[in-house]
Amino acid sequence: MRIEQGNSLLRVKAANQSTILRTIYYLGPVKRADIAEQLELTLPTITTNVNSMISAGIVREVSIRDASQVRIGRKARLLEVVPEAYHFIGIESTGTHRCVSVVDYCGHPLYSHYDEQVCADYQRSMEETCQVVKNCLKHCRLRMEDISGVCFGLPGWVDREEGILRVHPRNRWSNKNICADFREITGYEGMVIVENNASARAIGAQFYRRREMENVQSFTYLLVDAGIACPLVVNNTNYIGSVVGAGEVGHMVMEVDGRQCICGNRGCLEAYSSDYAVIDRCYEEVQQGKAQKLKALCGQVKPEMFQIVEAQRRGDTDVTAIVEDAVKVLGTAVANIINFICPDQMLIDCKLFNIEKNQELLRREADKNLCNKTYRGTEFIFVDPDRTSGALGAAAVAINHALETYLTIE
Ligand SMILES: [Zn+2]
Repeated sequence: MRIEQGNSLLRVKAANQSTILRTIYYLGPVKRADIAEQLELTLPTITTNVNSMISAGIVREVSIRDASQVRIGRKARLLEVVPEAYHFIGIESTGTHRCVSVVDYCGHPLYSHYDEQVCADYQRSMEETCQVVKNCLKHCRLRMEDISGVCFGLPGWVDREEGILRVHPRNRWSNKNICADFREITGYEGMVIVENNASARAIGAQFYRRREMENVQSFTYLLVDAGIACPLVVNNTNYIGSVVGAGEVGHMVMEVDGRQCICGNRGCLEAYSSDYAVIDRCYEEVQQGKAQKLKALCGQVKPEMFQIVEAQRRGDTDVTAIVEDAVKVLGTAVANIINFICPDQMLIDCKLFNIEKNQELLRREADKNLCNKTYRGTEFIFVDPDRTSGALGAAAVAINHALETYLTIE
């Protein structure tokens, strides 16, 4: 329902309801009394709201035996959300790959599809993505109308309010109305959100690692893919962080008049450390008859990142030199980012860090350039490269949005 301006009682009720649901969602299984204490609300307020959530099938009581890991008194009954209550779809489409995941209310993936046949033509790409979505739903025996929210994670400049992709850097798409086009092709009438894919991964990391990241006030998520982005997330109350911009650090200038970047400028971070830069430089070596171990893996065609990592593992010195160069520049960029914003944690999502000595090199280069006067210590976490993490991150954005806007007041 719509709440008219000035109807403050309804506003308070609505805010309470969604806050109570979020508390059950993130802390469950949890006692009613603990929710009341945490939110500074009365027990009757909690009970009324919880009862309506139970009858709506969103929240359930768990028996003491099910929640044996939680120490509780004999008679207390715990509350948790019902995983099957809602379903969401997360999509990541970067221009080089596409992943679609169907998840339940708790974010557990039910089915994921990954492919690298992404078409550069917008209309065709969108139609194909919608077809993939339908196929995924079929696997889960769900219909489009069973889905409570869809989120697209896309690289570049995204207008969240309008659901429009303003600029897709690689595919040169501009002002594409993702929400309207998805709805038109699929006939879907529910919530469709568009988010920058690095931001979606950051939100996803927080969502899926929430126990470990409970006390982390701020973190950045450095995503090295075709491009490089580093969104900053500041944790606010109620377990949902806010992304402060997509952190397009890829075009931070690392060398004055340096290498040519796709953006037209020179010396950008992406021209040294992005997947594209590393792949192009390795491919040049292969074409010149160097990087023999890589050539054995990729033949005459452009190598992929996993082949480059494997060639380095096998001791290809030409490949190693290129990778180390990319990691050094990235390490310097990492120091610049930390000097600028001092986050508690930096999550690093980059295929090159599958190799531990690349992680060490990054730390060394970052250390060298961190400002001793202001550095308060940032914890580095190397995220295991996972093909589905972008789509799952997008699904987490859709779930968070549904939790924030939960409303059943009649
Ligand atoms: Zn650039």
